Amino acid sequence: MEDLDSAREGAGNAARETASGTWDAVIDVSNVCWSPQLPPVGRRRPSWERLDLVVSAWRHAHGPGARVHLVADESLMRALEDAGELRQLAAHGGITMSQVADSVILPMARDRGLHVITRDHYVDHRVEHPWIERSPGRFHGWDTVAEQVQIAPLGITPVSAQEVSLAREIKDLKRTRLDPKNQVHRRILHTRWKCGNTSCTLAASWQEQLLVWPLVSPSGEAMCPACDQPLASLGPRAQLHEVVVAVRGEEPEPEIMRFPLETDVPVIVGRGRGIKGIDLTMDPLSDRRAAAYRNAVLRVSRLHLLLRLEEISAVNWRLVAIDLDSTNGTEVERWAGTGFLPSREVGSDKETFLSARDRLVLGGAVQLRLSGRRYNAELGFPPPIPPTPVVDDLRSDATAQTTTIPRRQ
Ligand SMILES: [Zn+2]
Repeated sequence: MEDLDSAREGAGNAARETASGTWDAVIDVSNVCWSPQLPPVGRRRPSWERLDLVVSAWRHAHGPGARVHLVADESLMRALEDAGELRQLAAHGGITMSQVADSVILPMARDRGLHVITRDHYVDHRVEHPWIERSPGRFHGWDTVAEQVQIAPLGITPVSAQEVSLAREIKDLKRTRLDPKNQVHRRILHTRWKCGNTSCTLAASWQEQLLVWPLVSPSGEAMCPACDQPLASLGPRAQLHEVVVAVRGEEPEPEIMRFPLETDVPVIVGRGRGIKGIDLTMDPLSDRRAAAYRNAVLRVSRLHLLLRLEEISAVNWRLVAIDLDSTNGTEVERWAGTGFLPSREVGSDKETFLSARDRLVLGGAVQLRLSGRRYNAELGFPPPIPPTPVVDDLRSDATAQTTTIPRRQ
């Protein structure tokens, strides 16, 4: 482990780190150890020897003086069959252990001008770290060719806002304790919910069904994000997309909130408590209600927009928007392949049809678009949780029209 011994010295010298221009690098150690592209090729268990192979290949390519900084997820310690060397290295400060290694690796590489050795394209970090796309030459992966480990350009390419939000969406769902890869959670995602708590403020706004993502209890029960009481099932959901609402014109796009939009369940988007729809001033799932958002959201009318998702066929769908005679109006920005066409005013009380990448601008200040994912189609449709027998005395003619029988499961 000669290379790792000098890696440790390198890490010890981190305080005197040089600027860019050298071949000093930070290594995503968990990513290396788990990589089936490294010997033993194809093995899907982590192996500590893989790190030594990558460090050797890096120094072979860029000289023995290239220093490497090691950063690993804490979970690697538990996952390795023999974590002895890792434990020793950690005890001597030769490796940084973090619950989420990405959040150490990227700022370290940015601030010290380091190369990054990983096969992770960090798509979910592109907004916070725009330098990734500006510096593709600083990202290096590996391959094993004729039993030799070789360093190769990772091939960072720009990704669209949709791809970034898709990657972030999975993390957001985790943050709210919903994981689309978890069978129990997928059932929750694909079930229509209602909060039956008569003193719940959200239940009062959304009498018919919960319009935001539910939370999940440790035992796998769907919970109301407002009152933390168990939700009642209303049966399966139809096709589901996610809408992203953000402050307009800022990069990175500051998100105000996200909510699910189900086929044939129209939703009103507006501002103020008690509206029967999505209230942009009250995101129960996050603390992102900073003052910066308030000014933008103040441009949105109380009942601003009606959104509906229409399924034309199994693979074709469209978003329909109707401006509800809002004070500051609604515009549409059409995606033209490489950018957005100039915005155009949407007449009030008329239907505007949008495709996947078009976006709406509310009051000139808040933008609204679909995120990249269709839940049912891409994840498959697990059996929904059967409806809870509840006496629903809140239902009225006015609200009944917002509920339709799902076309398919
Ligand atoms: Zn509730």
